[in-house]
Amino acid sequence: MKEPKRVLITGGAGFLGSHLCERFVGEGFRVVCLDNFITGNPDNIVHLLGNPLFSVLEVDATQFIYVEGPLHYILHFASPASPMDYLKFPIQTLKVGGLGTHKVLGLAKNKNARMLLASTSEVYGDPEVHPQPESYWGHVNPTGPRGVYDEAKRYAEAMTMAYRRYHGVNTCIVRIFNTYGPRMRTNDGRVVPAFLTQAIRGEPLTVFGSGEQSRSFCYVDDLVEGIFRLVLSDHEGPINLGNPEEFTVLQFARAVQKLFAPELQIDFRPLPTDDPRTRQPDIALARTLLGWEPQTHLEVGLQKTHEYFLRLLQPARV
Ligand code: UDP
Repeated sequence: MKEPKRVLITGGAGFLGSHLCERFVGEGFRVVCLDNFITGNPDNIVHLLGNPLFSVLEVDATQFIYVEGPLHYILHFASPASPMDYLKFPIQTLKVGGLGTHKVLGLAKNKNARMLLASTSEVYGDPEVHPQPESYWGHVNPTGPRGVYDEAKRYAEAMTMAYRRYHGVNTCIVRIFNTYGPRMRTNDGRVVPAFLTQAIRGEPLTVFGSGEQSRSFCYVDDLVEGIFRLVLSDHEGPINLGNPEEFTVLQFARAVQKLFAPELQIDFRPLPTDDPRTRQPDIALARTLLGWEPQTHLEVGLQKTHEYFLRLLQPARV
């Protein structure tokens, strides 16, 4: 029998990382999940622990990474990724994007592995081009509170391209737009878990600013499918992955009210500093190169995510 290919996923116990671990194990790959658990959660991977294809390394990706044996693919997902997390861990965010990406690229070079960098729509900052194609260079405030994440990911992209050009490492970059689904943390601060947990608890929905800012929400299974295709392709990117269907935050709050709790009030709160006014991916490249586009309708994805939060918050009732 052919030996399965081996994948290292940094941030493997996080929201996206754990879904990727599950997908790669499901496809018959050996998966090594690396996490320091500052924002990752052991509960996200506990169901994989008995699987012989799955193993865990509790390591900080900014330290020297030692992995025994071959590695064919490395997916670098380690990073705080919600605005609340990167405000709480600004230096760790900069370090894992900078030093962590350097370590991961060194490992990829050593193992002759293909390395995928999880980048972000935040590299476009508060965009002046709408929707955002990969060719847009962005509009980022380097010294604002979000700068630690935006600039870390921009630096990570530059480092990835330098290793590709200078050391011939097989790399690719994905720019991930707002994604939601089960395993987001109830207190992670992002709009989907915030509104769904508020709806479950019967609390007002906290809309920041006037709610006119827009976002586009991709269900996690769709994103994982796009990443899986990109890893196994030989494209270098950057490639946007996200759902092009755009909503204002207020429209999104109304959709949550309608689906789950029509009686809920809306509580308008101050808009965080540098909150991007718009965000919508141009996914023409992903459509052409990967034959990919999101399949999950917002209502379906929200129902599944809502069920997950119900199980977490009201286990006796489910
Ligand atoms: N937001 C909101 N209420 C919340 C949390 C977030 O109105 O309780 C807004 C936030 O200001 C932003 C949008 O929802 O405009 C998406 O925020 P999120 O933190 O999910 O991700 P971002 O796209 O800003 O990285």
